[in-house]
Amino acid sequence: MLIVMEAGARPDEVDFVVRQVERLGLKAHPIPGAQRVAIGITGNKGAVDADALELLQGVKEVIRVTAPYKLVGREARPEDSVIKVGGVDVGGPGVVVVGGPCAVESLDQSRTIAEGIRKAGGQLFRGGAFKPRTSPYSFQGLGEEGLEILARVREEFDLPIVTEAIDQESLDLVAQYADCIQIGARNMQNFSLLKSAGRARKPVLLKRGMSATLEEFLLSAEYVMSEGNFDVILCERGVRTFADHTRNTLDLSVVPAIKRLSHLPILVDPSHGTGKRNKVLPMSRASIAVGADGVLIEVHHKPEEALSDGPQAILPDDFARLVREVSAIAAVLGRSLAPMRRMKGEQKE
Ligand code: PEP
Ligand code: MN
Repeated sequence: MLIVMEAGARPDEVDFVVRQVERLGLKAHPIPGAQRVAIGITGNKGAVDADALELLQGVKEVIRVTAPYKLVGREARPEDSVIKVGGVDVGGPGVVVVGGPCAVESLDQSRTIAEGIRKAGGQLFRGGAFKPRTSPYSFQGLGEEGLEILARVREEFDLPIVTEAIDQESLDLVAQYADCIQIGARNMQNFSLLKSAGRARKPVLLKRGMSATLEEFLLSAEYVMSEGNFDVILCERGVRTFADHTRNTLDLSVVPAIKRLSHLPILVDPSHGTGKRNKVLPMSRASIAVGADGVLIEVHHKPEEALSDGPQAILPDDFARLVREVSAIAAVLGRSLAPMRRMKGEQKE
């Protein structure tokens, strides 16, 4: 159920409706929009008396949402959501290029890569301090030491940080250090982790599970939003199929499908989506062409020595080319690269 307020409804009228909904023992989620405020209602077991709510001051209409997700859908918010990640807009007219190593390995490694990302025009830095590895014997990440390295990189290069939380313990730490919390493919349906991320005060980058349907993916985003965190960024990273020429099959058709149903931004990760360095650039171009709000790219200055995902990491120079080409394709669609976070020394206009 969704309550749509009149375009000119006053804040006290919105508050009053919220309180009435709560008096019924339900949860109210005010969703501000460009034209009007909507109030999502969750927690109802059966039908809610729509007529009574429709009579309240400032209410335009009460609509039944037929989709299983309520807050993620365009009914709740017709216009695109723009999520601020450490001062960089994700979603809306701009396109973002997120770059960084699969895993934070050392301060030197992260600084070298971050310098390349910043110079090339990448707006966000992403690196894992907690790594969900298939084998328990593979490098598991530097943990909190990795988060400290990321915080130093943010200071030095003014790049907001995205990094993964793999469980409750790492989520608490990641939320302290990072500008955006990544929930990886393997945890897309870890519902208790999603709820905790929904209570965190940082944006969440939610990757699609490796065999998740579109509806399952959107319902996972709904878990985060239903706890009050509306700053969710989706990320397609490939699904498992019988094809074996790539690590996963990058499902680019999910991008326009999501754009139709949801107001949330969607990024594409062609690094995990293909698993092969030589396919990252062409699939990045394609991602922007189908309407993605950006790409997430694994970069390493010495991929052959990388402690994880070396075969899919591209060199900083190739990342620079990728940013140029992505920007050119965005321009065809009337979009451009989202502005970078201003360097600390730079003058304000
Ligand atoms: C990653 O982003 O490094 C990662 C592990 O990705 P995914 O969760 O998509 O496999
Ligand atoms: Mn990786």
